[in-house]
Amino acid sequence: MNRFLPLVAAGVRHLTPYQPGKPIEELERELGLIHIVKLASNENPLGLGERAKAAIAAASADIARYPDGGGFSLKAALAAKHSIQPGQITLGNGSSEILELAARAFLTPEHESVFARHAFALYPILTQAAGAVARIAPARDYGHDLAAMRALINERTRLAFIANPNNPTGVLLSPSEVEAFIAELPEHVICVLDEAYYEFVAPELRAETLHWPERYPNLLVTRTFSKAYGLAGLRIGYGVSSPELADILNRVRQPFNNSNLALAAAEAALDDADFLQRTLALNQAGMRQLTEAFAELGLEWIPSHGNFIAVRVGEGAFSVYEALLRKGVIVRPVANYDLPEYVRVSIGTEAENQTFIEALRQVLAGV
Ligand SMILES: *Cc1c(COP(=O)(O)O)cnc(C)c1O
Repeated sequence: MNRFLPLVAAGVRHLTPYQPGKPIEELERELGLIHIVKLASNENPLGLGERAKAAIAAASADIARYPDGGGFSLKAALAAKHSIQPGQITLGNGSSEILELAARAFLTPEHESVFARHAFALYPILTQAAGAVARIAPARDYGHDLAAMRALINERTRLAFIANPNNPTGVLLSPSEVEAFIAELPEHVICVLDEAYYEFVAPELRAETLHWPERYPNLLVTRTFSKAYGLAGLRIGYGVSSPELADILNRVRQPFNNSNLALAAAEAALDDADFLQRTLALNQAGMRQLTEAFAELGLEWIPSHGNFIAVRVGEGAFSVYEALLRKGVIVRPVANYDLPEYVRVSIGTEAENQTFIEALRQVLAGV
């Protein structure tokens, strides 16, 4: 037993850390494989855009300096792009950090958070780390059942997490459903609307949610540069809220939580409409490629609005995951999301998707 366990906060004592996708290097070391396809962490298969790359090269001249802890330039760019105020923005070391700031600021052992079954794994972890109580609502068609979530809210509730689209299921709620939920929330509950995959949603199915905090001061919308913008390794994301809520989040934030490389790359990436367009087109084509293959293999999947898809491979899903690893394809087992018969696969390049499909076909055929 770890000798420090009796000394740590009760919430931390029983915490199971977030399980990231298996890194390529690790599989290389374990199996001595060289051509590995990683479709496990919803990263951008195109890498990063040329503009971001150039901005990183330029910013690297200043690495000896501390970054601008206020993120002035990036906030100005985000504010201009989305027609919001810079004071509404909180920058984070990935949008995960924004979620963490919210948990740190609002959750204590006297408080509760609410989220749905199959919701993003960070919500229970952050809740438990704060020693708070997680209230888990049943799912509806693999997505969030907002009425069920609403029913779990009481005077101890502080945070209601909604990932839209959800990860790992890819299920999307309509803007009107989500807004109705937010509008009904009591004032002491903050809605954390996690839009890590917002850019992948078809324009006709999404709303200008970054304007919602003007109407709902207890709403925090989070977005990230990790997925559609291809900057997962740099760690940068942001929250948009009322200035009052942003002020609270900024109180618990580390002063230099974004590197100058990340700030510069994010600002450049925002402007790179061409890269974003290519990313979305590739994602659409890849989604078609995978679902057609699943249909042909007789597999069910959960229709997804993200850059990933959960496919039902049956009771032996974990052994399918392991067999795919041995063929050099990394996907994500999702038993920890209460989806024991599924694996989640990120949409890759056409060639990566093809490698995955072929490996899956062989694994399912017992080859
Ligand atoms: C990937 C992801 C995030 C955050 O990723 P960051 O790299 O920390 O920005 C947040 N929420 C969901 C649902 C995600 O899938």
